[in-house]
Amino acid sequence: MDILNIYNPIKMHFGRGVINEAGNIAKKYADSVLIVTGKSSMQKSGTLDKLLKILKNAGIDSTVFDKITPNPTTDDIDAGADIAREKGVGLIIGLGGGSPLDSAKAIAVTAKGNIPVWNYLKTAAIEALPVITIVSTSGTGSEVNKYSVMTNPKTGEKPGFGYECMYPKEAIIDPEIMVSMPPHVTAATGFDIFVHTLEAFTGKMKNIFSSAYCMQAFCLLEDNFVRAYREPQDLDARSDMALASALAGLAIDMSGVGIMHALEHPMSGNYPNIAHGAGLAGLAIESMKYNLKACRRDFMLIAHHLGIKRMKRSEDEYAYSLIEKTEEMLASINLNIRLKDLGVEKDKLPKIAKEAFTTMGFAVQNNPVTVNEQDALMLLEASY
Ligand code: NDP
Ligand code: MN
Repeated sequence: MDILNIYNPIKMHFGRGVINEAGNIAKKYADSVLIVTGKSSMQKSGTLDKLLKILKNAGIDSTVFDKITPNPTTDDIDAGADIAREKGVGLIIGLGGGSPLDSAKAIAVTAKGNIPVWNYLKTAAIEALPVITIVSTSGTGSEVNKYSVMTNPKTGEKPGFGYECMYPKEAIIDPEIMVSMPPHVTAATGFDIFVHTLEAFTGKMKNIFSSAYCMQAFCLLEDNFVRAYREPQDLDARSDMALASALAGLAIDMSGVGIMHALEHPMSGNYPNIAHGAGLAGLAIESMKYNLKACRRDFMLIAHHLGIKRMKRSEDEYAYSLIEKTEEMLASINLNIRLKDLGVEKDKLPKIAKEAFTTMGFAVQNNPVTVNEQDALMLLEASY
């Protein structure tokens, strides 16, 4: 057996109403916190007010930083870190989807140092304020991993980074917070789970633990994704999607992502209006076709876990059935789209292909089939 190192130090709390434990959990770390959240969804659903009350009842002093946009920028992260430093808070709580959670981790690191967050791409971070994640989407897995993704608004670059000190201390995963997601957010974020499982399950860094998580996540997705999309209030479907998100988040923490994430980050970095999961939807089919030759066995296994019957199909046909199934899934969540539908301009494709290598090199490296810049451009053109 190859040497395998597994590490994930996060305490996870799952279940309906588990947000009510936030006060007792936070109190273990500090009596003054910075809540990092987005501009409107958590205010509208009442979750932010609820959290503020819970923290107040536990004797915790809260400051709210609600400036985080989808595809968060380095400027907003640096501004959040300034506030954390000024207020001298002892804990950062991320409340929202992947964007506020990623920002919470980045702010926790930056607040400890005296350099802009962008510098942490080159300078390893060794300490950070403690972070608690309270997740409101089922998608990124950011609630249970060390990664943070940020956009440089001047250049459009959108790299991911993650150091051991950035693991959240605890994750609060309460499906009641997720029922307010409108269908298009459920669709984009849920498809992100699917791509995490696919890329962690087929990547060069795959291992037995991440594969086990992925298989369970595939089963949960099969039973619940379209249901949660069609019935936003279905708490059973929301619960299972939240579990799938965490399983896939743990899987990518160990085994990384691949070419779809490598190409999607520069896309939504250059076009911040593109939702990460929608960008992945535009890239998935051509990327799966490109990877098929190295993934026949894995695709067959996934097809099996998604309940596709083999019948009399050859191995090649059965493996290909996963691509057909993915097309069907995208059609049923209204995300059967091409890059031009997302507003990407054709003459930007070479820049996007280039940045996949300069900002997401680790994901390119992890892809089961070797990709060079020309292949990446060809994939983008085929998806256009
Ligand atoms: P976002 O956090 O960007 O949220 C998307 C939209 O959904 C926002 O408009 C947000 O509103 C809204 N929203 C969030 N939760 C709810 C809710 N419960 N009810 C109603 N509306 C809601 O989406 P994602 O979770 O997809 O995060 C995407 C980001 O995460 C990207 O930057 C992506 O690159 C990154 N990412 C990180 C990974 C990691 O491992 N750390 C992995 C993959 C992606 P509002 O802004 O008002 O809160
Ligand atoms: Mn993702």
